[in-house]
Amino acid sequence: MVDIRGVHKSFGAHEVLRGVDLQVRASEVTVVIGPSGSGKSTLLRGINHLEKLDRGSVSIDGELVGYRRRGDKLYELKEREILRRRTRIGFVFQNFNLFPHLTVLENITEAPVSALGRSRSQATVRARELLARVGLADKERAYPRQLSGGQQQRVAIARALALDPRVLLFDEPTSALDPELVGEVLDVIKDVARAGTTMIVVTHEIGFAREIADTVVFMDDGLIVEQGPPEQVLDHPRQDRTRAFLAKVL
Ligand code: ATP
Ligand code: MG
Repeated sequence: MVDIRGVHKSFGAHEVLRGVDLQVRASEVTVVIGPSGSGKSTLLRGINHLEKLDRGSVSIDGELVGYRRRGDKLYELKEREILRRRTRIGFVFQNFNLFPHLTVLENITEAPVSALGRSRSQATVRARELLARVGLADKERAYPRQLSGGQQQRVAIARALALDPRVLLFDEPTSALDPELVGEVLDVIKDVARAGTTMIVVTHEIGFAREIADTVVFMDDGLIVEQGPPEQVLDHPRQDRTRAFLAKVL
């Protein structure tokens, strides 16, 4: 499980995360919603240690992500160890972030070979299984620029799954897509959720949130304002700020 405690982060004088606590149980899907600038991406990047925290901690299955603890102090780990621990956390970005000079198959096998030390043939077998699962078995030799945005994002999801992550993070995975390509990507994410992957998904797709979330978290101004099952947070919000936000996006 993912355990986020007392996370603070500032950029200069701007405190973007002001004490975030969140627990995500294994196999559950947590959807994070909230206005632009509320700190959703910063939180996801903090979980992955792409962003250093000023205070607080993130642990996955009891192990801190970017730090080690000595007494009550945290010390940042060496880059190599950070990279190793980061392989336990899959990250799917808004803009796909595929390696443009690698084929689809190479995009998926690169990290399992280089970071996890798997053999190329083992990584290739697994990559082909994953490509079939996201409906792209026939695209393994293509380069990213030869694919649609929806196809690229499905490759990015396969690439994240290839590391067998303990948790998969999605930051607005469909917001860079043309409307007609959104559905195919949401379907793949739903399939991954149903398979029991622990996920944290930032999205503006409220209907999708209702369908896949075990827990919906509403963030505003660097804090979690409200969280609970989708029918509670989306249909019967308790906080005025949640109501005001939903009134704008629904
Ligand atoms: P959106 O819905 O637009 O993606 P968000 O909730 O993901 O918004 P963040 O990207 O986490 O919001 O940003 C929160 C605040 O932190 C914003 O005001 C943003 O300008 C600021 N911010 C984020 N990253 C940096 C950075 N590297 N340097 C300075 N300010 C930053
Ligand atoms: Mg964001």
